Amino acid sequence: MKISFIGLGNMGAPMARKLIAASHELVGFDTATTPDGIAMAGSAAEAATGADAVITMLPNGAILQAVAAEIHPAMKAGALHLDCSTVDVDSARIVGEAAENAGLSAVDAPVSGGIGGAEAGTLTFMAGGSEEAFATAQPLFEIMGQKAVHCGAAGNGQAAKICNNMILGITMIGTCEAFNLADKLGLDRQAMFDVVSTSSGYSWSMNAYCPAPGVGPQSPADNGYTPGFAAELMLKDLRLSQMAAEATDADTPMGQAATALYQSFVEDEDGLGKDFSAMLPRFEKRGRG
Ligand code: NAD
Repeated sequence: MKISFIGLGNMGAPMARKLIAASHELVGFDTATTPDGIAMAGSAAEAATGADAVITMLPNGAILQAVAAEIHPAMKAGALHLDCSTVDVDSARIVGEAAENAGLSAVDAPVSGGIGGAEAGTLTFMAGGSEEAFATAQPLFEIMGQKAVHCGAAGNGQAAKICNNMILGITMIGTCEAFNLADKLGLDRQAMFDVVSTSSGYSWSMNAYCPAPGVGPQSPADNGYTPGFAAELMLKDLRLSQMAAEATDADTPMGQAATALYQSFVEDEDGLGKDFSAMLPRFEKRGRG
């Protein structure tokens, strides 16, 4: 396939390299970076011209909408716009509709798996769009990831992503505050892990990404809380969940509390640049007041 890849940052560059390694012809475009081993075009429209598929991996919905307005008129009829960025549901739906109006097919497919997953080609894609568009994107998902779930119409990939990450933010906070309470009660962290990881308090945050150093599987906690998944990216996703909750009048008190806590952590404390599991040392430093 002739593929255009727009947005070659931490995630986009390794995803593009996987496609090149699978013998696809690929041209990239990025406003700020020129990654090694990727042929670059002079503009997004130039990159998109003649491509069978254009993949975007961009920071937010406003940028995605601006790039979509530039590339859709340049794309050939019937080509696929596959957006893998994490953006608000409304932007995903607007871009999906704009693509359809321009005679293109479109899939919103945000990812889970982070930079490690992008480098290893083991991402999970949560996809929104028509059956036909999803089928067209499937061979690309197979190269860049290990699993793709079709979640329904345009925007539903983003909906699945923010619901998943709202659960993740809430369970990580819960796991960290429980470890901190356990410490104060004189409970050994290994014993706490052994019980909770096999009891009803288990979760991915405890079992697969334990926030306590030296306990459970290897995780960012064992590496000084170097991300991993940065606290500011968790804050971004929690904010998207609250935008969606407001737009749909969904009551999400725990999501709201998690958003407020990650906001303080990133903006007013020392959370910026740390893994999102560094909530545990944050709790350790504080009392109730
Ligand atoms: P990043 O900031 O490293 O990369 C984004 C790239 O887009 C940058 O290189 C930037 O120069 C480029 N860009 C910005 N505006 C542009 C424009 N108008 N035209 C072309 N390029 C433009 O971010 P990232 O970590 O690669 O994340 C990309 C997306 O993936 C985000 O939506 C993020 O939320 C999501 N995501 C990231 C992770 C992660 O662990 N990093 C995990 C899951 C999802």
